[in-house]
Order: sequence, then structure tokens, then C-alpha cells
Amino acid sequence: MSLDTSAKAIKRARAVMPVGTSSPLRACRNVDHDPLVVNRATGQYLFDVDGNRYVDFMCGFGPLILGHAHPEVVDAIATQAARGTLYGAYSQQEIELAEMIAATASHLEQVRFACSGTEAVMATLRLARAYTQRTKVVRFKGSYHGHFDLVQNANVDHLLEAGLDPAAMKSNLHAKYNDIETVRRLFAENPGEIAAVIIEPIAANMSLVLPEADFLKDLRDLCTANGTVLIFDEVIVGFRLTYGPASNLLGVSPDLTAFGKIIGGGTPVGAFGGDAKIMRLLDEEKVLQGGTFSGNSLTMAAGLATLQVLKRPNFYEELERKSQLLEDEVAKQRTALGADFTFTRIGSIFAFIFLPDGTPIRNQDDIARQPHAPFTRLYAAMRHQGIHLAPDIEEPMYVSAVTEDEELVRFAREAVRVIAHV
Ligand code: PMP
Repeated sequence: MSLDTSAKAIKRARAVMPVGTSSPLRACRNVDHDPLVVNRATGQYLFDVDGNRYVDFMCGFGPLILGHAHPEVVDAIATQAARGTLYGAYSQQEIELAEMIAATASHLEQVRFACSGTEAVMATLRLARAYTQRTKVVRFKGSYHGHFDLVQNANVDHLLEAGLDPAAMKSNLHAKYNDIETVRRLFAENPGEIAAVIIEPIAANMSLVLPEADFLKDLRDLCTANGTVLIFDEVIVGFRLTYGPASNLLGVSPDLTAFGKIIGGGTPVGAFGGDAKIMRLLDEEKVLQGGTFSGNSLTMAAGLATLQVLKRPNFYEELERKSQLLEDEVAKQRTALGADFTFTRIGSIFAFIFLPDGTPIRNQDDIARQPHAPFTRLYAAMRHQGIHLAPDIEEPMYVSAVTEDEELVRFAREAVRVIAHV
């Protein structure tokens, strides 16, 4: 146990690591706040080095659907650790988890594991290129697919400043979410050149934006008509809304799907899968994807234990009940206090959007119109109240299976009070 206070730990962190940590949002710069320095987490709580307790609505940026240190996941990890964390060989755990994931949707004919969502997406794009023998990729402004070159949003005038290859980035085409005409136009302008369209079917990196009726179906039809691979990035939404990919709820089947987050039970993971005709390129060793730790037995054991809990009757129904409780309390307080903002939710993913209730919110252009100050104020006030939110206005928040009803109600009350300025 460290004897450092947060202030001391932050100073040490910043001396040894750029922004003091290994992934930038954690530095809390986007909310103009000191970072949270955590030394332990259990159930719905995070504990900082100063001994403060926070109810966690960030859930590790999404994976922790069972909360922190769920006993069954802890047991599985401990048992597996004693049996070896890495075999460098076929393993029972890897086969079982692959079978469990593949069984959740008929379009997941084959799957493979990686160590992060980034790696999973990278493999799907490589497969799409190899399969179509084309280079261009359509993606949607405001989405996030990982930190490798081809899916970055950097300003085209400053690519090299971001360390991105301007020549390679020319294959990166941007459309607008919920605006099929922008996709149609890209297909018309780049005939026979588009290898893949990649999309978060439910957009959870621009706050939370839901697909409008027929948008995904139209996208499916355009891809089919153009011989383009449709990739659903389900790194956030996979197993978050139902037991399996969200495509099962949306009624549209992609050719390839990328997973991450939840399926690793809180350990590093990525997975991808889909049409066997495309996945076979890995079998024929035409396309390379692999990795020392891909499919490691520790992650597989944590993932298996998690999926076994998620698979139980009523798991998602109970999560929905909790999430609805939060939404109802937010609505009640909003009316009582006369606050005007938008609350968006699907299942256990939700976001406060600082635009008047009823504003059409279709894509990043709409999300970008919200002022930042209300969220910065909300983040700070919630930290003060022992509630932790993702430290960025465009990250959604999550309810976990162990978030207690009283905490959901308390959060709704405190949050709306702060937003309403009372
Ligand atoms: N895709 C989506 C939709 C994501 O939200 C993320 C990360 N938040 C990624 C890919 C990348 O996953 P990872 O951070 O595990 O590399």
C-alpha cells in the first residue's frame, strides 16, 4: 500500500510518464480537474489513495459490467493464474470462449482473439482490404475505433504533426452518422475502391447517439451492392445490451464484428469474427494477425467467468430495470427543477447532453454544439459527492450489475441539481 497522497502521486506520475499515465483521458485534462489516483476497487466503488470512495459510473470506460472484482471473476483469475497465465499453445479456455462468442450470432462463423479493441479493429480492416483487394475505408465522424493510424480523426492539415502518414491517410474517408447520403456520395466518388465501411452501430464515442430507423439497413444494402465489407465495431456495445452483439437487437448483420472490453472480464482483450469466407484468409496465412498474448489463458478465464454470469436468466432485464430507474429519476428531477438538457440511454449506457431536451441529435455535428462548461462543472461536483464519471463530455457512462438502486437515485438527484444550478 502506497503512503502517497494524490498530490504527491500525481507529481511522481507526471515526472515519469507523459501526462502521468498510459492513456490520455485519465489525466482529466478535458474536465480541467486533478486526475483520480486509485489504489483499489471493489463492486460499485473506486477508492483513491487519499481514502475517498467513489461510486463508479465510468466502469473502466465500459468493460466492468459486473462492477469491480466480481467474486466469480476473481476466483476464475486466481485459479487460472495458478495453472499458468500463458501457454503459447492451443488452450481449452480459448476454445471455450471462442465457441461461446461464436454461438451468440449466426454471422459470427469464426472468431479470433487479440489483446485490445484497437488490435481487433485493425485486423478487421486488414482482412477487408485483403478480401476486396481495395484500400479505402469509410468511417463516421465522431466515432472512435482505436489508436492506430488509419482510424484517427486528426485534422488533415496537421497529419504529420500527429505522427500520421499523409499518404496512407488518404484512404480514410469520412461520412456522417445517420446520414446515408454522405455514404452514398463517397461510394459514387470512389467507385470500386472502398474496401470497408466501419461503424459503431450505436455511436458511443460521441456521447451516445442512436441509429435512426433504416440507417444501418441502408448501409448494409450499400455495402452489399458495392462488394464492400461492413464492419460493426462493437467494442463498447457487444455484450453490453444483450448476451451477444448489439446487431442481434438491430436486425442488421455485418460481415465482420470487432469486440473488446466486456468479453475480457476486466483484463486486456479484443476479438473479431464474422463471415468464414473472409476469416479464412487468416487460415490460409495470407493475412497476418496474432500476438504473444492473444487468447492468453488468464484473459480467457476472466472472459469465460464473465460470460457465464451474463448468460444467466434475467441478467440484462435486471440491468435494464436499474437503468430505467436512473432515467426515471433524472426525468422526475428535471421536471421538478426545470432544468433543460437531453438525457440519452440505451440499456445500461447513458449520457447527459447539454442541448435543450428535444433537440435532434443525429451525429457529431450536433454533439459538438454543446457547451463544455456544464459537464466540467458536473464532473467536479460529482467527484466532490463521491461519484466518478468518465472525464470527457463525449464519453458515455454506464450502469453496472452491482450499482445499487440508492446510488442511482442519489446520482440522478445530485446531477440534475448541479445541471439546474440549484
Ligand atoms: N472501438 C471502440 C468503439 C472503442 O470505444 C474503443 C475504446 N474505447 C476501441 C475501439 C479501442 O479499444 P481499446 O482501447 O481496447 O484498444
